[in-house]
Amino acid sequence: MSEENLSCSFCGLSKLQTKVLVAGQDAHICDQCIEQAFSILNHQKTNEDLAISSDISDLSPKKIKVFLDDYVVGQEYAKKIISVSVYNHYKRISHESSDIEIEKSNVILVGPTGTGKTLIAKTIAKMLDVPIAIVDATVLTEAGYVGEDVENILTRLLQASDYKIEKAEKGIIFIDEIDKISRKNDNPSITRDVSGEGVQQALLKLMEGSIVNVPPKGGRKHPDQNFIKLNTENILFIAGGAFAGIEKIISKRMNMNAVGFKNSKLKSSVSSDQIIEFIKPNDLKEFGLIPEILGRLPVISYLKDLNFDTLRRILVEPKNALTKQYVKLFKYDDIDIVFKSDALDFIVNKALEYKLGARGLRSICEAILVDYMFESPGSGIKKITIDKNYVDSKLSDTQFSSIKKAS
Ligand code: ADP
Repeated sequence: MSEENLSCSFCGLSKLQTKVLVAGQDAHICDQCIEQAFSILNHQKTNEDLAISSDISDLSPKKIKVFLDDYVVGQEYAKKIISVSVYNHYKRISHESSDIEIEKSNVILVGPTGTGKTLIAKTIAKMLDVPIAIVDATVLTEAGYVGEDVENILTRLLQASDYKIEKAEKGIIFIDEIDKISRKNDNPSITRDVSGEGVQQALLKLMEGSIVNVPPKGGRKHPDQNFIKLNTENILFIAGGAFAGIEKIISKRMNMNAVGFKNSKLKSSVSSDQIIEFIKPNDLKEFGLIPEILGRLPVISYLKDLNFDTLRRILVEPKNALTKQYVKLFKYDDIDIVFKSDALDFIVNKALEYKLGARGLRSICEAILVDYMFESPGSGIKKITIDKNYVDSKLSDTQFSSIKKAS
């Protein structure tokens, strides 16, 4: 066939009508068809990127909870509440409702530090394969003050989404230490309450669902900057805080005496550990969150301190449990490491004794294993057994004294 008689096998244009005609084995493709195919491919890819990985129609609150169970030990009530609100949230954004507008179900998690609040938020993001930004409320300030502008939260979310705006708009923002931006009634300053209420007001704007100008690289806003417009309407906000002392507020409201938590209406006594179960939005208001913010965080749940059993399970049960991580790490060097039950009990007791919580489990394990991690690779050792005596001896070493001091 002569050159002139060649044509695009897709659209039929002759070679003369095209700018470029690329030859394959038995076919040809013209420049226009290449461009069209490229845009189809791109469109497909963007759609794939935007899709929430688990199709919402396959999800149910129960399935979300089962996924959480693989990573977060205990905290059953928090996991249940968050499963329902995450399910409702993504159901809401996947079905456009024209008649009844379903409001967002942002969540506030109340519980001591190190009990799994961030872990829950991260796990939800992992399950849905949506971007997540984790921010500390204490570094935020109102625009114009020293600290980070609230909009920088959205910059982080954009970064976590590789600057794909549509992806960021379906992401999750976890705001930690929300209790630290409480309104201070006893604030001696007669000027604005920089650290507290002003930040809450600024956060409110993001949570309300609005189009926000986001500085793409973060930092302070300045007039000649180019902004990315981000719609926060479908972003799920999860706030977390320890709210130390909230039990007193709850017991006061419920008219319980602070010692026995005996309530005449309930006609039963409530232990100090249980009192958090009665938390209401008003208690958080009393603590210093402004009512408007509370209105935007309609779902409240609580997490409890981790006890011996929970800490013990955290060591072995989650998909990426610490002991499983060490087993894998040593396996890379062909070494089998075994943790005896009495050793695990001992580790947990030490974490409790020194009030190190779940975060401390890791530092304790590192202190115990550092010698083996240093010496065994390449030494020919094939098996390591960690028992209580070994843990005890290692924890009396100097490394652990420094952990205790640091805590
Ligand atoms: P916080 O409540 O302060 O946000 P985190 O979620 O950051 O606490 O928990 C700190 C670490 O402790 C986590 O990375 C995880 O390893 C461990 N952890 C805490 N609580 C749990 C839990 N309930 N289940 C499993 N691991 C936990």
